[in-house]
Amino acid sequence: MSDVDVIEKFLRYVKVDTQSDDSTGSSPSTMKQHDLAGILYKELVAIGASDVYYDEKHCYVYASVPANNDNPDSPPIGFIAHMDTSDEVSGRDVNPRIVEKYDGSDIKLDSAGKIILSPDDFPELLNHKGEDLIVTDGMTLLGADDKAGVAEIMTMAQILTENPEIKHGEIKIAFTPDEEIGEGTAFFDLKRFGAKYAYTVDGGKLGELEYENFNAAEGTVEVKGRSVHPGDAKMRMINASLVCYEFHSLLPVFQNPMYTEGREGFFHLTQIDGRTDSATAYYIIRDHDEKLFEQKKEFFREAAEFLNKKYGEGTVTVTITEQYRNMIEKIRPHMHLVENAKKAMEDLGIEPIDRPIRGGTDGAALSYMGLPCPNLCTGGYNFHGKYEYASVQEMRSVVKLLLGIIGNYR
Ligand SMILES: [Zn+2]
Repeated sequence: MSDVDVIEKFLRYVKVDTQSDDSTGSSPSTMKQHDLAGILYKELVAIGASDVYYDEKHCYVYASVPANNDNPDSPPIGFIAHMDTSDEVSGRDVNPRIVEKYDGSDIKLDSAGKIILSPDDFPELLNHKGEDLIVTDGMTLLGADDKAGVAEIMTMAQILTENPEIKHGEIKIAFTPDEEIGEGTAFFDLKRFGAKYAYTVDGGKLGELEYENFNAAEGTVEVKGRSVHPGDAKMRMINASLVCYEFHSLLPVFQNPMYTEGREGFFHLTQIDGRTDSATAYYIIRDHDEKLFEQKKEFFREAAEFLNKKYGEGTVTVTITEQYRNMIEKIRPHMHLVENAKKAMEDLGIEPIDRPIRGGTDGAALSYMGLPCPNLCTGGYNFHGKYEYASVQEMRSVVKLLLGIIGNYR
């Protein structure tokens, strides 16, 4: 096999600032995402990928590697990664550094030695003793989320185009913008992409395989109070802020993010704006289980009904807006996606980690658009912050994993 190196690509891609921004309202949300899209487009052309297409309006890049096997039944398999980085921490002037043969001690990120990546805070680090770790200089995020995925897919594609003796079915590739602001699939062209099944390469720890996520809705509670002079308030005032407080006290105490993990759902109070005459509380409602999810929404409505009985019709108005659904419903009929990924991991001696996502993923949206799409690991850690790091050895393993999955669909 040629010596194409995923790390060389990764170190180049993270230096391109592609931070998305949920306040611009445009698509892509930031023009600088085109800087990486343009690079990927050129590289795909250069390595001899086919159908290379750059949607310059919405900033998506598509390509394929045509089948070279003689099995007309092998399905077109896709791999997707997002180009943007989180808007929580700057992605400008990313200055990555490789800590060779990590020895388990504290890593001083900045030159003054004040920003420290320590196993005391991140015990997971100790699993990487002896590996080479790519870290930041403490000023920015690293951008392994998801440039690790981008680099791994690009490397896989180059290995396939340079080594025609590796037999495979049709391979489809897409790089998307704005995943971090929830818009990654807004203009995804499923038809152009052309895969029957796909994987997003956007997870963390080596071995992670995700095909279950939350069912998600937003709930808004609007309360109309009755404001009167507090001196004359007896039996007349309704304090809207206190009704909000009461609403919250009706919700099950332990169905709260602070007390839940695994497949346990919750109501999360995200914001509250309150005065005496009016108040609004904003919630997100989450559950992996469809039935329990429906029950939670019903409970939310019933809490409002109860308060309306107590304070008068129209005091409390609840609005529930659906956000996304658990992809498991769409994966279950195609469990080969999970089995082939697990088999590829086991062949490489990687232990599969089967874990429900406590959030959403672009793969969930794609699954409901008709493209069943679990999420694979990248070898990156501590996403969305300056303590983000990636393992050189794990990233190289992920490239082998992608090739292994392709082999299982041959
Ligand atoms: Zn991501």
